[in-house]
Amino acid sequence: MPDKKDRLDSIREELRHCRQCALARGRRNVVPGEGPHHVQVMFIGEGPGRNEDQQGKPFVGQAGAVLDELLAAAGLKREEVFIANVIKCRPPNNRDPLPEEISACRHWLDEQINLLDPKIIVTLGRFSMARFIENARIGRIHGQAFEIEGRKVVTMYHPAASLHNPALKNTMLADFAKLGGIIKKLSPTPNSVPATVEVKSPPENTEEEPDAPVQLTLF
Ligand code: URA
Repeated sequence: MPDKKDRLDSIREELRHCRQCALARGRRNVVPGEGPHHVQVMFIGEGPGRNEDQQGKPFVGQAGAVLDELLAAAGLKREEVFIANVIKCRPPNNRDPLPEEISACRHWLDEQINLLDPKIIVTLGRFSMARFIENARIGRIHGQAFEIEGRKVVTMYHPAASLHNPALKNTMLADFAKLGGIIKKLSPTPNSVPATVEVKSPPENTEEEPDAPVQLTLF
């Protein structure tokens, strides 16, 4: 079995040749993600934009500058976390990723998660959140921590949300400050019992049936 660092490195190399969806045709660079191989916290964004496509690195544009500020609010530096995306290639004109693109790319992200085995995954935006929690609304559960697949998943607004809606910035900073508190408490006392909550999201379109509730554990 190859060691974790070797496999993470070979994922980068294999991704350079990946042609599993149509986004391969329009990319300049694949953006596999970056960070140390031993991390407690992994961040997962949506997908590369123009700057990321040019440089082959995640969150290097305007949203990246916001992410750096948010990381600082959590007491984190970029160098100590791993940052990846749900899709590894830029969609044309930065449109939303299509379901078939997300599913074609999913095995790469799954393998990165398995190899890194972070204690905390922070989802950035709704596409990343949907990898762990279906039928939830980010406006309802931003800044919350859930126990999923044996680790904590913290659901955050996408950093770019504050570029479109500056009024969200303080909320996002507060959510990341809370994340800092969660990180500090990574070794809970043996007797701490997590509470179970039900997340029920109203439908986007009021003509639709309400979404099925999702049973989650909230910290
Ligand atoms: N937005 C993302 O979701 N990911 C990036 O890497 C850059 C911007």
